[in-house]
Amino acid sequence: MNEPVIEVSELRKRYGPCAAVDGITFDVRAGEVFALLGTNGAGKTTTIEILEGYLRATSGTVRVFGQDPASAPRSRIGLVLQESGLFGDLSAAETVTAWSRFTSGAMPVAEALELVGLSGQAGTRVKRMSGGERRKLDIALATLGRPDLLFLDEPTTGLDPEARRRVRDLVRGLAAGGMTVLLTTHYLEEAQELAGRVAIMDRGRIVTQGTMSEVLGRGSGRVAFELPAGATPEGLPVGERDVLTATGRRCVIVTAEPESVAHAVLGWAQARGVRVTGLDVRQATLEEVFLDIAQEVRT
Ligand code: ATP
Repeated sequence: MNEPVIEVSELRKRYGPCAAVDGITFDVRAGEVFALLGTNGAGKTTTIEILEGYLRATSGTVRVFGQDPASAPRSRIGLVLQESGLFGDLSAAETVTAWSRFTSGAMPVAEALELVGLSGQAGTRVKRMSGGERRKLDIALATLGRPDLLFLDEPTTGLDPEARRRVRDLVRGLAAGGMTVLLTTHYLEEAQELAGRVAIMDRGRIVTQGTMSEVLGRGSGRVAFELPAGATPEGLPVGERDVLTATGRRCVIVTAEPESVAHAVLGWAQARGVRVTGLDVRQATLEEVFLDIAQEVRT
């Protein structure tokens, strides 16, 4: 495994009686996209702001490039905050030019705009740009000095699906170029698409973390199929912990073992001399895992 770029151990942040972050441990390795997910108020922004050096931890250890966030090398870090602070009257190119004065090793303005697909909007004033274009400009500013580590706090919130896709393509390209990315997002399909590892937070704690396939494997999969006309779902091989929902001829079995249940369903059909159609076997999506966890921790 690559060396850790971010190391967080037993991190806590308290606001009076409120534990915004309540003892979390994780690391982010060089070159990976790591997604920090969670319900509203779970502590994601607090965590990221501690890592960025804006907030001090109450206790625990945090290292960014092996150092305390306050003394971590700024030139190696790019930040895309939830709220961008762009000036509406400046054009995209003027914004990047102004920013490059404060960025060591800044790439040329044209290259920065090209990288995020904004060459065509170089002369457009920020106030005339779409939400997606502004977000891309935020990312252009954050990556201007070719940082090794990029913090992306909800980079696509409020964007339409097409703009979200463009920003995701952009993040994927940056990651493919070797940038380490710590991402928070409420769009779980976005995390599933971009992240190699993920941690899900709830009320200040990490309730599950691992590689994307480990986390998806902890959720319940789905086996869906159609029964032939006249057949009833009686006797279908549904385990004790599985849940069968039959709507007309369409059956869905939610199960931790989708492959073996699918196999058993085919055996069940064969034994009865019937054919099931439209068989669809799949793992849980990240969204389903997230909803399962949210339900579990509240019951
Ligand atoms: P969201 O997804 O809604 O942005 P989040 O996971 O980023 O949520 P945080 O913003 O980190 O959550 O907040 C975690 C908790 O800490 C919340 O209960 C919030 O109200 C509380 N909190 C955050 N900042 C402060 C503060 N300055 N004073 C008191 N409580 C705070």
